[in-house]
Amino acid sequence: MTDRKSQLARNLAGVEERIAAACRAAGRPREEVTLIVVTKTYPASDVRFLAELGVREVAENRDQEAAPKAAECADLGLTWHFVGQLQTNKARSVVRYADAVHSVDRLRLVSALSSAAVRAERTTGCLVQVALDAPTGSLGSRGGLAPQDVPAVADAIAAAQGLRLDGVMTVAPLAGEYASQPRRAFERLMEIASALRASHPAANMVSAGMSSDLEEAIAAGATHVRVGTAVLGVRPGLR
Ligand SMILES: *Cc1c(COP(=O)(O)O)cnc(C)c1O
Repeated sequence: MTDRKSQLARNLAGVEERIAAACRAAGRPREEVTLIVVTKTYPASDVRFLAELGVREVAENRDQEAAPKAAECADLGLTWHFVGQLQTNKARSVVRYADAVHSVDRLRLVSALSSAAVRAERTTGCLVQVALDAPTGSLGSRGGLAPQDVPAVADAIAAAQGLRLDGVMTVAPLAGEYASQPRRAFERLMEIASALRASHPAANMVSAGMSSDLEEAIAAGATHVRVGTAVLGVRPGLR
Protein backbone atom coordinates (compact mmCIF):
# COMPACT_ATOMS: atom_id res chain seq x y z
CA MET A 1 0.00 0.00 0.00
CA THR A 2 1.13 3.58 -0.61
CA ASP A 3 1.75 5.75 2.46
CA ARG A 4 -1.42 7.70 1.81
CA LYS A 5 -3.54 4.58 1.43
CA SER A 6 -2.27 3.05 4.67
CA GLN A 7 -2.85 6.35 6.46
CA LEU A 8 -6.44 6.40 5.19
CA ALA A 9 -6.83 2.75 6.21
CA ARG A 10 -5.67 3.54 9.77
CA ASN A 11 -7.91 6.59 10.05
CA LEU A 12 -10.87 4.68 8.67
CA ALA A 13 -10.30 1.87 11.17
CA GLY A 14 -10.25 4.45 13.99
CA VAL A 15 -13.53 5.98 12.84
CA GLU A 16 -15.07 2.54 12.42
CA GLU A 17 -14.07 1.73 16.00
CA ARG A 18 -15.67 4.95 17.26
CA ILE A 19 -18.90 4.23 15.37
CA ALA A 20 -19.02 0.64 16.66
CA ALA A 21 -18.39 1.78 20.26
CA ALA A 22 -21.07 4.48 20.00
CA CYS A 23 -23.56 1.94 18.63
CA ARG A 24 -22.77 -0.48 21.47
CA ALA A 25 -23.14 2.29 24.06
CA ALA A 26 -26.51 3.26 22.56
CA GLY A 27 -27.69 -0.36 22.27
CA ARG A 28 -28.05 0.06 18.52
CA PRO A 29 -27.01 -2.48 15.87
CA ARG A 30 -23.96 -1.26 13.89
CA GLU A 31 -25.91 -1.65 10.61
CA GLU A 32 -28.26 1.16 11.63
CA VAL A 33 -25.52 3.74 11.06
CA THR A 34 -24.03 4.51 7.65
CA LEU A 35 -20.66 6.23 7.39
CA ILE A 36 -20.47 8.91 4.71
CA VAL A 37 -16.90 10.09 4.14
CA VAL A 38 -16.73 13.81 3.32
CA THR A 39 -13.97 14.11 0.70
CA LYS A 40 -14.17 17.89 0.05
CA THR A 41 -10.77 19.54 -0.67
CA TYR A 42 -9.16 16.09 -1.15
CA PRO A 43 -8.32 14.69 -4.60
CA ALA A 44 -10.04 11.98 -6.63
CA SER A 45 -7.04 9.73 -5.90
CA ASP A 46 -8.10 9.69 -2.22
CA VAL A 47 -11.67 8.79 -3.20
CA ARG A 48 -10.23 5.88 -5.18
CA PHE A 49 -8.17 4.68 -2.19
CA LEU A 50 -11.24 4.96 0.05
CA ALA A 51 -13.29 2.89 -2.38
CA GLU A 52 -10.54 0.23 -2.39
CA LEU A 53 -10.72 0.27 1.42
CA GLY A 54 -14.46 -0.45 1.34
CA VAL A 55 -16.04 3.01 1.55
CA ARG A 56 -19.28 3.10 -0.46
CA GLU A 57 -20.67 6.57 0.35
CA VAL A 58 -18.91 9.91 -0.07
CA ALA A 59 -19.98 13.54 0.26
CA GLU A 60 -18.94 16.87 -1.20
CA ASN A 61 -20.01 20.44 -0.46
CA ARG A 62 -19.12 22.49 -3.57
CA ASP A 63 -20.36 21.67 -7.05
CA GLN A 64 -17.29 23.16 -8.79
CA GLU A 65 -15.12 20.65 -6.99
CA ALA A 66 -17.57 17.74 -6.80
CA ALA A 67 -18.67 17.54 -10.46
CA PRO A 68 -15.22 16.78 -11.94
CA LYS A 69 -14.29 14.54 -9.00
CA ALA A 70 -17.46 12.47 -9.34
CA ALA A 71 -16.86 12.18 -13.10
CA GLU A 72 -13.30 11.00 -12.52
CA CYS A 73 -14.59 8.39 -10.05
CA ALA A 74 -17.66 7.31 -12.02
CA ASP A 75 -16.28 3.78 -12.49
CA LEU A 76 -16.25 3.18 -8.70
CA GLY A 77 -20.03 2.90 -8.33
CA LEU A 78 -20.07 5.05 -5.19
CA THR A 79 -23.09 6.80 -3.70
CA TRP A 80 -22.50 10.59 -3.79
CA HIS A 81 -24.08 12.94 -1.27
CA PHE A 82 -24.16 16.72 -1.63
CA VAL A 83 -24.00 18.43 1.76
CA GLY A 84 -23.13 22.08 1.06
CA GLN A 85 -25.16 25.23 0.61
CA LEU A 86 -26.54 25.00 -2.91
CA GLN A 87 -27.32 27.77 -5.41
CA THR A 88 -30.34 27.09 -7.62
CA ASN A 89 -28.17 27.56 -10.73
CA LYS A 90 -26.06 24.55 -9.67
CA ALA A 91 -29.06 22.19 -9.45
CA ARG A 92 -28.65 20.92 -13.01
CA SER A 93 -25.06 19.91 -12.39
CA VAL A 94 -25.63 18.40 -8.93
CA VAL A 95 -28.48 16.06 -9.93
CA ARG A 96 -26.19 14.41 -12.50
CA TYR A 97 -23.94 12.85 -9.86
CA ALA A 98 -25.62 13.29 -6.46
CA ASP A 99 -27.82 10.46 -5.26
CA ALA A 100 -28.93 12.62 -2.33
CA VAL A 101 -28.83 16.32 -1.49
CA HIS A 102 -28.73 16.88 2.30
CA SER A 103 -28.99 20.66 2.18
CA VAL A 104 -32.47 21.39 0.83
CA ASP A 105 -33.70 24.45 2.70
CA ARG A 106 -36.01 26.52 0.52
CA LEU A 107 -38.89 26.15 -1.92
CA ARG A 108 -37.00 27.73 -4.82
CA LEU A 109 -34.31 25.09 -4.45
CA VAL A 110 -36.97 22.35 -4.44
CA SER A 111 -38.32 23.61 -7.79
CA ALA A 112 -34.84 23.95 -9.27
CA LEU A 113 -33.84 20.41 -8.20
CA SER A 114 -37.14 19.01 -9.41
CA SER A 115 -36.88 20.44 -12.93
CA ALA A 116 -33.22 19.45 -13.10
CA ALA A 117 -33.94 15.87 -12.00
CA VAL A 118 -36.82 15.50 -14.46
CA ARG A 119 -34.64 16.82 -17.26
CA ALA A 120 -31.78 14.48 -16.34
CA GLU A 121 -34.26 11.59 -15.96
CA ARG A 122 -32.98 11.00 -12.45
CA THR A 123 -34.57 10.60 -9.03
CA THR A 124 -32.73 12.72 -6.48
CA GLY A 125 -33.05 12.01 -2.78
CA CYS A 126 -33.59 15.14 -0.69
CA LEU A 127 -33.05 15.81 3.00
CA VAL A 128 -34.41 18.94 4.60
CA GLN A 129 -31.57 20.79 6.31
CA VAL A 130 -32.58 22.07 9.74
CA ALA A 131 -30.77 25.00 11.37
CA LEU A 132 -31.49 24.80 15.07
CA ASP A 133 -30.20 28.36 15.54
CA ALA A 134 -32.32 29.97 12.80
CA PRO A 135 -35.31 32.12 13.66
CA THR A 136 -38.59 31.05 12.03
CA GLY A 137 -38.76 32.26 8.43
CA SER A 138 -35.01 32.68 7.90
CA LEU A 139 -31.99 30.53 7.07
CA GLY A 140 -29.14 29.58 9.41
CA SER A 141 -25.62 30.94 8.94
CA ARG A 142 -24.55 27.64 7.35
CA GLY A 143 -27.86 27.16 5.52
CA GLY A 144 -30.82 25.20 6.79
CA LEU A 145 -34.22 26.35 7.92
CA ALA A 146 -35.91 26.80 11.27
CA PRO A 147 -37.74 23.75 12.69
CA GLN A 148 -41.16 25.39 12.17
CA ASP A 149 -40.41 25.79 8.46
CA VAL A 150 -39.53 22.11 7.85
CA PRO A 151 -43.02 20.74 7.01
CA ALA A 152 -43.66 23.14 4.12
CA VAL A 153 -40.38 22.32 2.38
CA ALA A 154 -40.77 18.59 3.13
CA ASP A 155 -44.28 18.54 1.64
CA ALA A 156 -43.00 20.36 -1.45
CA ILE A 157 -40.22 17.79 -1.93
CA ALA A 158 -42.67 14.90 -1.48
CA ALA A 159 -44.97 16.42 -4.10
CA ALA A 160 -42.23 17.29 -6.60
CA GLN A 161 -41.50 15.20 -9.68
CA GLY A 162 -38.02 13.68 -9.80
CA LEU A 163 -37.41 14.09 -6.06
CA ARG A 164 -37.71 11.68 -3.14
CA LEU A 165 -38.03 12.89 0.44
CA ASP A 166 -35.37 10.96 2.39
CA GLY A 167 -35.26 12.71 5.78
CA VAL A 168 -33.53 15.50 7.66
CA MET A 169 -29.99 16.78 8.18
CA THR A 170 -28.37 19.17 10.61
CA VAL A 171 -25.00 20.56 11.67
CA ALA A 172 -24.71 21.13 15.43
CA PRO A 173 -25.07 24.91 15.84
CA LEU A 174 -22.22 27.10 17.08
CA ALA A 175 -24.62 29.76 18.37
CA GLY A 176 -27.99 29.96 20.07
CA GLU A 177 -29.47 27.75 22.77
CA TYR A 178 -27.82 24.57 21.43
CA ALA A 179 -24.27 25.98 21.18
CA SER A 180 -21.74 23.45 22.57
CA GLN A 181 -24.58 21.01 23.25
CA PRO A 182 -24.50 18.65 20.27
CA ARG A 183 -26.35 15.87 22.12
CA ARG A 184 -29.32 18.15 22.85
CA ALA A 185 -29.22 19.52 19.30
CA PHE A 186 -29.32 16.02 17.82
CA GLU A 187 -32.14 14.99 20.15
CA ARG A 188 -34.11 18.00 18.92
CA LEU A 189 -33.39 16.88 15.34
CA MET A 190 -34.75 13.41 16.21
CA GLU A 191 -38.02 14.98 17.38
CA ILE A 192 -38.27 16.85 14.10
CA ALA A 193 -37.47 13.63 12.22
CA SER A 194 -40.20 11.70 14.07
CA ALA A 195 -42.77 14.40 13.40
CA LEU A 196 -41.83 14.31 9.72
CA ARG A 197 -42.20 10.52 9.58
CA ALA A 198 -45.76 10.81 10.88
CA SER A 199 -46.76 12.32 7.52
CA HIS A 200 -43.92 10.87 5.38
CA PRO A 201 -43.16 7.36 6.72
CA ALA A 202 -40.43 6.61 4.16
CA ALA A 203 -38.37 9.69 5.12
CA ASN A 204 -36.24 7.82 7.62
CA MET A 205 -32.74 9.24 7.10
CA VAL A 206 -31.32 11.30 9.95
CA SER A 207 -28.02 12.82 8.82
CA ALA A 208 -26.13 14.21 11.81
CA GLY A 209 -22.71 14.03 13.39
CA MET A 210 -19.25 14.89 12.05
CA SER A 211 -15.69 14.12 13.18
CA SER A 212 -16.07 15.90 16.53
CA ASP A 213 -19.58 14.82 17.51
CA LEU A 214 -20.44 11.53 15.80
CA GLU A 215 -20.85 9.79 19.19
CA GLU A 216 -23.52 12.29 20.29
CA ALA A 217 -25.32 11.90 16.96
CA ILE A 218 -25.35 8.10 17.18
CA ALA A 219 -26.55 8.26 20.79
CA ALA A 220 -29.43 10.48 19.68
CA GLY A 221 -30.39 8.15 16.81
CA ALA A 222 -28.62 9.37 13.65
CA THR A 223 -28.73 6.97 10.70
CA HIS A 224 -25.96 8.69 8.69
CA VAL A 225 -22.79 10.34 10.02
CA ARG A 226 -20.74 12.64 7.78
CA VAL A 227 -17.05 12.38 8.62
CA GLY A 228 -14.25 14.30 6.88
CA THR A 229 -11.30 15.32 9.05
CA ALA A 230 -11.09 12.11 11.10
CA VAL A 231 -10.65 10.06 7.91
CA LEU A 232 -8.76 12.37 5.53
CA GLY A 233 -6.94 14.73 7.88
CA VAL A 234 -7.26 18.42 8.72
CA ARG A 235 -8.25 20.37 5.62
CA PRO A 236 -5.88 23.07 4.40
CA GLY A 237 -7.84 26.29 4.96
CA LEU A 238 -10.79 26.02 7.29
CA ARG A 239 -14.08 25.04 5.78
C1 LIG B 1 -17.23 19.34 6.01
C2 LIG B 1 -18.54 18.83 6.44
C3 LIG B 1 -18.64 17.68 7.25
C4 LIG B 1 -17.43 16.92 7.78
O1 LIG B 1 -16.85 17.65 8.81
P1 LIG B 1 -15.57 17.09 9.61
O2 LIG B 1 -15.55 17.92 10.83
O3 LIG B 1 -14.39 17.32 8.73
O4 LIG B 1 -15.80 15.66 9.89
C5 LIG B 1 -19.91 17.24 7.58
N1 LIG B 1 -21.02 17.89 7.17
C6 LIG B 1 -20.96 18.99 6.40
C7 LIG B 1 -22.23 19.65 5.99
C8 LIG B 1 -19.72 19.51 6.02
O5 LIG B 1 -19.68 20.62 5.27
